[in-house]
Amino acid sequence: MGDNAVTPGTGTALFEDARSRLEDVFDALALHPDARERLMQPSLALQVSVPVRMDDGSLKVFPGWRVQYDTSLGPAKGGVRFHPQVCQQEVTTLSFWMAIKCAVVGLPYGGGKGGVQVDPKALSLLELERLARGYVRAIADVMGPDRDIPAPDVNTNATVMGWMADEYAHIVRAQAPAAVTGKPISLGGSRGRVAATGCGALQVLNLWVERKKRRPQDIRIAVQGFGNAAYHFARLAHAEGYKVVAVSDSRAAIYAEQGLDPNEVKAAKARNGKVSDASNVEIFPPDTLLTLDVDVLALGALENQIHCDNVDEVRAGLILEIANGPLTSAADATLAKRGIPVLPDVLANTGGVIVSYFEWVQNRTGDHWLETDVHNRMTLRLQQAATLVLDRAEKEVITYRQAAYHQGIERISEAIMARGNCQ
Ligand code: GLU
Repeated sequence: MGDNAVTPGTGTALFEDARSRLEDVFDALALHPDARERLMQPSLALQVSVPVRMDDGSLKVFPGWRVQYDTSLGPAKGGVRFHPQVCQQEVTTLSFWMAIKCAVVGLPYGGGKGGVQVDPKALSLLELERLARGYVRAIADVMGPDRDIPAPDVNTNATVMGWMADEYAHIVRAQAPAAVTGKPISLGGSRGRVAATGCGALQVLNLWVERKKRRPQDIRIAVQGFGNAAYHFARLAHAEGYKVVAVSDSRAAIYAEQGLDPNEVKAAKARNGKVSDASNVEIFPPDTLLTLDVDVLALGALENQIHCDNVDEVRAGLILEIANGPLTSAADATLAKRGIPVLPDVLANTGGVIVSYFEWVQNRTGDHWLETDVHNRMTLRLQQAATLVLDRAEKEVITYRQAAYHQGIERISEAIMARGNCQ
């Protein structure tokens, strides 16, 4: 399930860490102080309680949040995660990253994120549906196609989005498919959405590989995570000739010198729930994957996976961030000093939200695009945005993350200032 999946992120420190990156960007850019002031905190943070009638007749209440970080460029956009460690600070940080990434790739959206503190694996399907519907009832006042548009994230998927969209339609007593993206195709979901995050990450990697004049078949990749984004990335990278030598889930990492077939790993995991059931592989503890001597370390799990305690053990030639926030800013700085480039989350994982945007456009125009149209449009948008970021980093001799943040924050600031001075 979900766009990512492995271990939890943590609260206040995570937001302070994300915000320190913002301070660095402001220090480096000559931006108006009003924009700086506006972007230091979220514009709206809603905490809700979601009561769920359990199958045994008892009532459980789950805390949840929806945060809109900034809406200067358009309605808030971002996923909803169901996870036992979700907290307001984490959701706020993720909404901030959504604001940056939507701006980096030029979408007419601000940043939003939602979460419910729950272990979804402990719920029955009907309990999960009641939770999803209850969450939408709780946040309905602040959502809508022109206000805030939820989507899938960790432990939520098209089925959950279908329930959410249906609940919203009941509340507003009208069809409103553009209020939620990542829906099943039968409810107005877009073709290509499920694989979009992994596909986008591969396109950003391809661009970098071309620039470095290297060939996919010479590149060995280790992929942390085997949730939706990581799996599709591994599958597509393998199909394009890259050598995927290792993948992991929360229980184990698996390695094969000659390369793995992600489809076979997926089949093994589908049988027993573990990647370690794949055949002809070496099995290690999950974090060993982070220390492998590979060309590319693709991080497709959760936040804070590489931090000051393990960054020195990283031996990869390049980091590709498929998850949101897998490096702390301290680890990021250390890697920059060691000359290990990082293709950052706010560029590398935008495929999902780009196709969410296409879904929203299709819903608003009553259209259904072919998968090839979705793919071509995503490629065009991502290539344009990624080329600008990579060019800027090379020209200004800054990291790819700095270049992406500069690109995103400049666009948001321009919108803040264009809205006038008397708010
Ligand atoms: N949850 C995804 C992300 O973090 C997708 C968000 C969306 O499609 O709105 O980018």
